[in-house]
Amino acid sequence: MKVTVRDLDLNNKKVLIRCDFNVPIVNGIIEDDTRIVKSLATIKYVLSKNAKVILLSHLGRVKCEEDKKKLDLAIVGKRLSELLNKEVIFASVTRGEELEQKVNNMNYGDILLIQNTRYEDLDGKKESSCDEELSKYWASLGDVFINDAFGTIHRAHASNVGISKYLESGIGFLVENELNKLSVLNSPLHEFNVIMGGAKVSDKIGVIENLINKCDHLLIGGGMAYTFLKAKGMNIGNSLLDEENIEFCKKMLELHKEKIILPIDHIVSKGIDDTEVKIKDISDINSDEMGLDIGPKTISLFKDVLKMSKTILWNGPLGYSEVSYYENGTKDVLKYIVDLNVTSILGGGDIVAASSRYNLKDKVFHASTGGGATLCYLEGKELPGLKYIKDKEL
Ligand code: AMP
Repeated sequence: MKVTVRDLDLNNKKVLIRCDFNVPIVNGIIEDDTRIVKSLATIKYVLSKNAKVILLSHLGRVKCEEDKKKLDLAIVGKRLSELLNKEVIFASVTRGEELEQKVNNMNYGDILLIQNTRYEDLDGKKESSCDEELSKYWASLGDVFINDAFGTIHRAHASNVGISKYLESGIGFLVENELNKLSVLNSPLHEFNVIMGGAKVSDKIGVIENLINKCDHLLIGGGMAYTFLKAKGMNIGNSLLDEENIEFCKKMLELHKEKIILPIDHIVSKGIDDTEVKIKDISDINSDEMGLDIGPKTISLFKDVLKMSKTILWNGPLGYSEVSYYENGTKDVLKYIVDLNVTSILGGGDIVAASSRYNLKDKVFHASTGGGATLCYLEGKELPGLKYIKDKEL
């Protein structure tokens, strides 16, 4: 396990914390502040050590000068201040006199939020390319560094990996919790089943390759199932197809025929806006129809396999679950899993959003906060954001 915020001497120090404040903002309003709320535990803990707290986060992608206005982090500072019931000093720049003066004027127990780290991407992608000079500069503002941004831990950026090269560093509570919960998947597992869905096969190749030998079954639904069905030579009508990965699916089906379970029926229509939906056997689809959810027979088949599980990992919805006509497969199977007494892990992104819509998110063992970061972990790769954070001495 990595050094955590608990293992470091933070008393009377300037502590830089990389948070994930990448919240959805619509018309100048934060739509969902979960990410800010999830950062509070580490921030409060560091404050309790009479430290000066200096926060960094990215917000969206800054590609041109106009993006800066839309992606100004001041709005996050305001919300954070409300949540903490405490002033949050905001530096409207990512470097320079204003920032340095504000840091120098801080008292112990103060919090300062630095402007969106991706402002530095406008001039030569300094943040995203982990620019050495920028990393050193940000590191020079503090004494200790805490990485609590799981959402970007699969990226080597200046504000996470870069700073950790130059300061004594540890992980925050949010990252620690993610690593602890996900590490369940690294122990030898029996009766371990994996559910995969979503649109693209390409994003999940690494995960499939890493887990196929460890799991008992891989149940595939959602749009990605159609590339597997195509690989079996079936007609898939107008359903999603990831042409480039047909060969990969063919190989997987040859090698793991017994393990891979594909839909046997589906809900089809002429597209997501078409209200005329039909339940059909999987081989039955017209050329102008799309398969947008798994059907009732598949739901029963999946439940039958899943009832023999001790651990279930799920990544990607089983249908176009954002639209109510096509949410049944995802919703029904999720409800079923919650009622089974199993270790259930939802691997970030859309499946976590779906579990939230059905009020099931708090009922699973772990709903990961990462998207790409969780996939990277599930591929069995080292997370770049942890590279310079030392392992704990046991
Ligand atoms: P991904 O990022 O690859 O995990 O894809 C997630 C997206 O796939 C979500 O927006 C789902 O609604 C969508 N999706 C799931 N099943 C289907 C399907 N059968 N056809 C089209 N889109 C789907």
